[in-house]
Amino acid sequence: MKPRKIKRLLIANRGEIALRIIRSARVMGIETVAVYSAADAAAAHVAAADDARPIGAAEPAASYLNIAAILEAAHAAGADAIHPGYGFLSERPEFARAVEQRGIIFIGPPAEVMAALGDKVAARHIAISAGVPVVPGSDAGDLEAARQFAASAGYPILVKAAAGGGGRGMRVVGEAAGLATALEAAAREAQAAFGDGRIFLEKYLARPRHVEVQLLGDQHGTVVALGDRDCSIQRRHQKLIEEAPAPGLEPVLRERMAAAALTLARAAGYRGAGTAEFLVDGDNFYFLEVNARLQVEHPVTELIFGCDLVVEQLRIAMGERVAEPPAARGCAIECRINAEDPAQDFRPATGRVIKLALPAGPGVRVDTQLEAGAEVAPYYDSLIAKLICHGGGREQARARMAAALGEFMLLGVRNTAAFVREIIASEPFARADLSTRFIEEHFPRWSPADRDLHDALIAAALAANGMLGGAAAADGGTNRGASAADGAAAHSPWTTLGEFELWGRR
Ligand code: ADP
Repeated sequence: MKPRKIKRLLIANRGEIALRIIRSARVMGIETVAVYSAADAAAAHVAAADDARPIGAAEPAASYLNIAAILEAAHAAGADAIHPGYGFLSERPEFARAVEQRGIIFIGPPAEVMAALGDKVAARHIAISAGVPVVPGSDAGDLEAARQFAASAGYPILVKAAAGGGGRGMRVVGEAAGLATALEAAAREAQAAFGDGRIFLEKYLARPRHVEVQLLGDQHGTVVALGDRDCSIQRRHQKLIEEAPAPGLEPVLRERMAAAALTLARAAGYRGAGTAEFLVDGDNFYFLEVNARLQVEHPVTELIFGCDLVVEQLRIAMGERVAEPPAARGCAIECRINAEDPAQDFRPATGRVIKLALPAGPGVRVDTQLEAGAEVAPYYDSLIAKLICHGGGREQARARMAAALGEFMLLGVRNTAAFVREIIASEPFARADLSTRFIEEHFPRWSPADRDLHDALIAAALAANGMLGGAAAADGGTNRGASAADGAAAHSPWTTLGEFELWGRR
């Protein structure tokens, strides 16, 4: 393949990842084009890019998933490459294909590779043929096959969607009585979410860790591994806290897992940045899936390897070779701040940012699109900020994270900061006693500490009286109905307290 220079990159995404990609492109002297939905005209990524194009209404299907509108924007803006970020169209082979057909470089693996790996059943078969262990399972998702599999493997079993992602279409079945209903429900959910109702089964491991290997493959057939990450701290089978390297793994296990990831990537003809995900159970590891894109948690790898994975992706797309990575240094931890209410089963939250304070200092990185006055709308992913801390060792990274979370303040949108702060400070986290059951085991019924509510109360009163300072506090919440910030005379802060949360700042 001929080397091609990228001069103008369109980012087919929004939020923190769009901003993060714009920054790396700028460092490389590449011009950037943002796209935005009707809900995002005032968003940070739009202001940050060299050019910005509207692509449709707020609903993702009309804008960030609208292939025709994005291709049209790329053409109009003269973009010669498209970065899909994560989520949205990042793992849609038809998008990668359409981009390449227009003569535009797609930042990601070839469409066929993406198609093969995007199907979890097909990916399991690639792993099996490559000699990589998979969780004991069954391809067939019909009731009879499921009964047979469950009888041999034993309950609990996990029903999964072949096209799955983001924990959707997944059902744990504890006993035979629940099997038929779970199969039907999972198939229905998968059909609705992915337009593909195929399901398959796996043995449900009792207390595994989620460990993944970062991969980079170039156009010349070289694939390298950039260490591993532990992403065991999850809610609803979705990651909340991640760290690199995965702590406490036996060196032999670590090496075997990295070798398995490389074998798999080579067998699939992988190119670009990708992640091989595994479950670790005692001395065994099992392949889960390959995510053929940049992961949300990629910054922890960047901090320990001192690299920029977006720059690597762009270099690979331009035909450059990947180099063997240097030795990793220290440890990095990421906490996801989601617009969700951890006291109410992580129900998504919306609102306007009335007041925001972001942490800083040695070893502290914040990736976010948040700014005072920004609206957190209901249409998109609940991830609104990532706090990433690097330290010489795990304990230093953890201490920096605890301090950073103490500095973080977000008023106006319920979020997970206070929850992750307690996890980071907890004794089981300090011991790195990690498993995907961590939250269930240690924080099953969490509610904010009284002092947080007390802080929220004071903040609501200050906001109502315009005493928090800044334009956002003065005009904040104007479209929120009975918002305290609408004016102290009209609304008592006491009646609107529920709308204001101050999670953080000690
Ligand atoms: P998705 O693509 O929907 O995110 P994954 O297959 O990547 O689904 O799994 C997501 C999470 O679900 C894992 O990190 C793990 O916590 C849990 N999980 C998946 N498969 C199993 C299994 N066989 N046993 C136990 N937990 C599992």
